[in-house]
This record gives sequence, C-alpha cells and structure tokens, in this order.
Amino acid sequence: MTPVQEHITHIRCTIPDGVTLVCVSKFHPSSLIGEAYEIGERDFGESRVQELCQKAKELPGDIRWHMIGHLQRNKVREIIPFVHLIHSVDSLRLLETIEQEAARIDRKVRVLLEVHVAHEESKSGFLPEELPTDFSRYPHVEVCGIMTMATNTDDEQEWRRCFRAAKAALSALSAQTKMPLRPILSMGMSEDYAIAIEEGANMVRIGSSIFGNRTY
Ligand SMILES: *Cc1c(COP(=O)(O)O)cnc(C)c1O
Repeated sequence: MTPVQEHITHIRCTIPDGVTLVCVSKFHPSSLIGEAYEIGERDFGESRVQELCQKAKELPGDIRWHMIGHLQRNKVREIIPFVHLIHSVDSLRLLETIEQEAARIDRKVRVLLEVHVAHEESKSGFLPEELPTDFSRYPHVEVCGIMTMATNTDDEQEWRRCFRAAKAALSALSAQTKMPLRPILSMGMSEDYAIAIEEGANMVRIGSSIFGNRTY
C-alpha cells in the first residue's frame, strides 16, 4: 500500500456507515487520486474549476467530482455538464447562474447552500437567517442540503458551536422547503471531522490527512 492508501484505510475506520467521505485532492496530482481510486474511493473534491476540469479529463469517468471552493459565476458553465455536487453556493446570483447554465443543457444540477457560521470574516456563505427558502425559480437546481466550515481554531467547543448552528440551519431549511428525505450536511475537514460527525455530519471533506500538506 502507498502512504495515501494507508491514510485512507486508517481514516475509513473512523467514519461510520452513512457518512460520505469526499477526498479533497486540490493541489495534488492526478496520480495520487489514482491511488485512492484503486482502493475504491470515488468522491473527490476540488476548489478550482480549471484544476477540476483538467483532472476530470485525465481520470476515470465514474469519479464523482465535488466542487468545494468559491465558484465564480463565469466559471459555472465549464463544470455544469459533469459535476456531481457543488458544495459552495454562497449567493443568489450564483444560484441563478447555475440555473441558467443547467437549463441550457437541460440537466438538473445538485448543490448545497454554504452557510456562514464561523467567527471569521474571510469565510463566505449565507447567514442562517438569510438562507433562501423558495427554490421554485430554480427548476434545474436540486438543493440537497448545506455545507459549512467551522472557525479555523483548535477550540473544540467553537467547532461544536459552528456545527450545531449549521445543523439547526439545515433543520429549519428542510422544514420550509422540499428537500431530499435525507438532506446532506457537509461539514468536517482533517482537523475537525470527528467532531463534525458527532454533531451530525453525513458528508466530510478530508484533504491533508489523506494526501499530505498542500504546496500552493
Ligand atoms: C481544502 C478544503 C477542505 C479540506 O481541508 P483539509 O484540512 O486539508 O482536510 C475541506 N473543505 C473545503 C471547503 C476546503 O477548501
């Protein structure tokens, strides 16, 4: 086994059934994604459109590509034909662009609304009370749940506060809208995913614990 495969095997033991692991491969080469693919991983997350498209071209067609980074509206068209899930919908204008581009090719695109619960100005997303609840104008978009990032800290109580706020936002949203039976709650990264799972995450996004540190 390669180091990447060992890391995944170890992490897999800590993730219960029913929680989807998204391997965050941004800034890492396709060869390492291939190693993860070889032992059965199919969900990969990227943060930049160009990198995502390039890797999708090089790698097997049954990979489920997750767009997890901030998405510019002028880049939406490139990923709409094949993206599995866009986690980072952080504005109504972006939602509208996704609707337009999805309608253009008559595809229904799955997205998560990003909710801002962290004590950090730099993060994006809707405030919980600003989350849209009327999706009737977006017939080519399926809103499947919520994504969030906790405050970048090592304070476990602060992580829990963030994750609880995101879970509450999802409960409120699914009470007010037509959502899948089991909506997606995408939260938890290398440092905090165990806590996120305790607080109800059913999708975690793990990068550096699998692939090592990124060099930007
Ligand atoms: C990079 C990134 C991750 C993975 O972070 P790690 O700390 O490397 O596990 C998860 N979610 C988002 C939105 C990211 O941008």
